[in-house]
Parts: sequence; C-alpha cells; structure tokens
Amino acid sequence: MPTVDLPAPTPRPTPGQLTFTAPRRSKPPTHLADLDPAGRKAAVEALGHKGFRAAQLSTHYFEHFVDDPAEMTDLPKAERASLVQELMPPLLTPVRTLEADDGQTIKSVWRLFDGALVESVLMRYPGRVTMCISSQAGCGMNCPFCATGQEGLTRNLSTAEIVEQVVAGARMLRAGQLPGGVDEDRESPLRVSNVVFMGMGEALANYRRAIDAIRRLVEPPPSGLGMSARHITMSTVGLVPAIDKLAAEGIPVTLALSLHAPDDELRNELVPINNRWSVDEALDAAYRYYEKTGRRVSIEYALIRDINDHAWRADLLGEKLAARGSGWVHVNPIPLNPTPGSKWTASRHGVEQQFVERLRARGIPTTVRDTRGSDIDGACGQLAASTA
Ligand code: SAH
Repeated sequence: MPTVDLPAPTPRPTPGQLTFTAPRRSKPPTHLADLDPAGRKAAVEALGHKGFRAAQLSTHYFEHFVDDPAEMTDLPKAERASLVQELMPPLLTPVRTLEADDGQTIKSVWRLFDGALVESVLMRYPGRVTMCISSQAGCGMNCPFCATGQEGLTRNLSTAEIVEQVVAGARMLRAGQLPGGVDEDRESPLRVSNVVFMGMGEALANYRRAIDAIRRLVEPPPSGLGMSARHITMSTVGLVPAIDKLAAEGIPVTLALSLHAPDDELRNELVPINNRWSVDEALDAAYRYYEKTGRRVSIEYALIRDINDHAWRADLLGEKLAARGSGWVHVNPIPLNPTPGSKWTASRHGVEQQFVERLRARGIPTTVRDTRGSDIDGACGQLAASTA
C-alpha cells in the first residue's frame, strides 16, 4: 500500500486570528463532478474515448449514484475501468459512521486523498432529508465556541469533494440506511432534498469551488443532481463582498448569516470576522441578498448562557432587523452545543423562551433550531477532525 503524506497539522490559531488563504497542498484528483458538461466531454476525449461517454458516465454518477464499473453495462467493457479510474477516483474513504436520534441522524467521518478528515451529517425529518456538508477541512474563521474553528484551516475542499458528500448521502438513503428508507407516501426511494453548508468550513472563503458544487447540485440530471436551489442553504460568518457576489450568481440559494450577537463589542469576540465587517455591514449585506434574490434570510444565533442571551440583546437584534424591513428575515436561535472543554454552555430553557418571545414581539419570525446529533458530536459546531 502506498504511504500517504498526511497534511502537516496546521498550528492552532491564536484567539481572533483569521485565515483566508488555505495552506498550499497537493490537489485532490480531478473528478467528473469538478467539471461542467463541456469539461467532462473534453476530458473524456482527451483520454481517447468518444465524447458521448461523458454523458453516460454522468448518468451513472448523478442519476444512479453508481461508481462501480461492473454496473456500467452500457459502456464497452474494455473502456469502463479506465474511464472510472480517470474520472471517478475515490475521493472520500469512510472512516466511521455514527447513528443518533433513533437512526434518523447519521454522521460520517471521511478521509480525503491526503489524509485530511471531514464530516457530513444526514438527517431525516418528516417530509425531507437534509444533508449537512463540509466545504473545507478545518476552518479559518476561528469562532471560539465552534470546534472546527479551534482547529484552524487545513485546506479547501475541491468541488467534487463537496458534491461527493451529497452523493454519499444519496447512496446511504438508497441502501436504506435511514429507517423507513422508502417514502411511505410516495413509495419512492427517499432523496436528499435539502443541503446545508453547515458542516466544517466557511464555504464563502472557498468561493469558486462552493459555487461550482452548488451548480452540480442544481443542474438537472444527468449533468447534476437536480436539486432545488431554494433547498440549499449557504451559511456564512458574514463575508460581505462574497455575500454580494453570491447574490449576483443567479442561483437563489437560501442565505444564513451566523450573527450570534447584535452588538459589535460581543460579536468581535464570538465571530472574529466582525472586526472586519461589523454587525450592521453584515446585516445590510444580508438585506441586499434578500432584495436581489427574494429569498428570506436566516439569522443563526447560538444561545450561550449569560454571554449573548440577555433580554436587551434580543431587543437590540429585533430592532436592527425590523429597522431594515419586514418579511425579509427569520431568526434561528439554537442552544449552544458545548464543545469539549468549552467554558460556555447553553442558555437555560426559560431564557431561551424569553429571547424568542422578545423577537416575536417585534414581528420577527423566530424558530428554535433542533440539535440533531449532539450526542454523537454531530451537531452544529461540534464537527472536528479530532473527534474521528
Ligand atoms: N462557516 C459557516 C458554517 C459553519 S457551521 C458559518 O459560520 O455560518 C454552521 C452554524 O453552526 C453556524 O451558524 C455556526 O455559527 C454554528 N455553530 C458553530 N459552533 C456551534 C456550537 N458549538 N453550537 C451551536 N452552533 C454552533
């Protein structure tokens, strides 16, 4: 077996330190899902095959989630192995899978070609299946309450490494790994209906690859997975120029802004990027996103006991949101999922309720987000390579 040079561990960031540029590393092998249909045709031809083989391969991958040459009976036997080897190299090797919530949640830990580890989480809800995916190995945004943030940034994922997490989820569903693998109402196999970029990484800091991945997810089969853009959520710490760029892409994904504090003093500490783009600048960008796309924006707010859960902060948040308009935003408070060794813990239930009520009193739709997978370190903010 060839030895793999593991990526050198990145030094842990010091408090507040931001990392935008991923360290230079060798690139993952090119995969079909990295390429648009024209690129796939060119790649197939460059390997000496007929161009239409690209569409056949795409059908296997995006429509049937097949990567086993033996199942590709419409391709000449002699060509299958080389096409698959060249254009569908294995990108994600399962390290382990963990189940929670009576099997309705499955966390997967994946090893990438260079040894880097990432995680994804598949969650079944009534009427939908949501896949939470990673866009980077580690993260450079250094939010002190987030496990991934404490790790630092190892590297950006390639487009195909992002897409492959969703395909892996689709394969698990097809294999019936979530209980009731068949949608009782429609008697058809369950599909991954929703994708959230809420795993490891700041996707907008890996902009081009994340956008290309979204394109693969929404392109109709056989070029892509045929998902609805509105069922894809891009979550960000608030990289203002990237939010504006996303708004101009013409793909109406849902935007989630991780706010966690309505005032700069506290947000500078909780979400260090705030030192560059303030609360008001981030909220203005979120509002522009709504104006441009018509998509209601989500504000993420992890409720941390005695840190950001005060009544006055709920009021200030409500005021700032209402001041920009109505119907453009909703708030998703989530009780903090404490990370190992965290000095912080979740707000008390009564305090959480009061926070919600004060926002609602200002006309801001507010729903507390669930904490799926918290018992397997699979909940928001708990994904870290060190848990593998
Ligand atoms: N970089 C993106 C995606 C990160 S994870 C972003 O920051 O939005 C998705 C969400 O989980 C973010 O809102 C993030 O702030 C939140 N989160 C991180 N750590 C958490 C924790 N320990 N408890 C609850 N939510 C957390």
